[in-house]
Amino acid sequence: MNILVVEDEKRVAEFLQKGLSESGYRVDVAFDGEAGLEQAGQVGYDLFILDWLLPGKNGLELCRELRSSFPATPILMLTAKDTLQDKILGLDTGADDYLTKPFSFEELKARVRALARRKKRIEPRNLSAGDLEVNPADRSVTRGGVSITLSNKEYELLTYLLRNKNKVLSRELTAREVWGITFDTGTNYIDVYINYLRKKLKVGSEKPLIFTIRGRGYILKDEDDHPDH
Ligand code: CA
Repeated sequence: MNILVVEDEKRVAEFLQKGLSESGYRVDVAFDGEAGLEQAGQVGYDLFILDWLLPGKNGLELCRELRSSFPATPILMLTAKDTLQDKILGLDTGADDYLTKPFSFEELKARVRALARRKKRIEPRNLSAGDLEVNPADRSVTRGGVSITLSNKEYELLTYLLRNKNKVLSRELTAREVWGITFDTGTNYIDVYINYLRKKLKVGSEKPLIFTIRGRGYILKDEDDHPDH
């Protein structure tokens, strides 16, 4: 299980990294909000642990952005901000759990385990369409048994399409759900990524999976379905 800790206080960050690593988790650390956001896009994390008071982008803003970019990844706020209002604001901004400093490491570990269990329950074991298989546990993608390597964003886009297979998805919705952004103008970005995906998915089979619906968006279809859907 991969955990990203965003914490500017080096001593606390090191303590978290050491303690959680000893419990068998793989832990990366970022020391400010911007670095945290960038790091979050590099690796598929199973949990974000965020401090609130951070230089630059604060933990609350970071929480909001991570929540929209990674809707299925649990967020734990770990902060000295301990009023009831702070907790409510943190949870309403998208945190799944909230622990105040100073904290007991045993309690932190118990909460991490609880969030990991919850994520497992939410996440389907396998996502598939025809001969395409995605295993969220290790983020492996295969088509017709052939392994396919995707970038992080390609993976997020593919799993979004798979979770909503046989439904037409507009570019605007896709941008919001996968990138966490709203486009004012064109959505060529999405088209570019769809084309990357189409190329990569051809590895195991020539049969198209992702179809363009003119003026409406995209649809990923099970190969058995008729294209007049
Ligand atoms: Ca801090």
